[in-house]
Amino acid sequence: MVVSGKPPYDDSNIFARILRGEIPCNKIFEDDFALAFHDIRPQAPVHALVIPKGSYVSFADFGANAPAELIFGFSRAVAHVAKQLGVEETGYRLIANMGWDSHQEVPHYHVHILGGRKLGVMLAPIEP
Ligand code: AMP
Repeated sequence: MVVSGKPPYDDSNIFARILRGEIPCNKIFEDDFALAFHDIRPQAPVHALVIPKGSYVSFADFGANAPAELIFGFSRAVAHVAKQLGVEETGYRLIANMGWDSHQEVPHYHVHILGGRKLGVMLAPIEP
């Protein structure tokens, strides 16, 4: 059985403000489920962020509490944006930081799409 509670969502976070149109973004794509824009501090030639339309703090919150239609539509949007950015052929990496250990900075669930060059190994190996 999955037991979950809805964590508190801070409406003043920067992605909530972008969703409400209060601050600008360099938009790539938008539909009923998601908004995609370029990361302000890119770490690869392609570095996009895709955020769902809804108040979800993290992947854990989204996966546990979002309606199925939104989870489906959001996944479709991520794949669509990667294709639109031209990295489907060459490959790309998706990152969804969740919580403290991951260094999640913005408390609105988002997926990073990274590509446009060889990204190397996923993480440095654990020291023996
Ligand atoms: P994370 O550490 O997974 O929470 O990633 C947050 C990302 O949001 C970072 O890569 C930031 O560069 C990016 N970011 C922060 N503010 C903005 C903004 N106003 N527009 C675009 N990207 C932003």
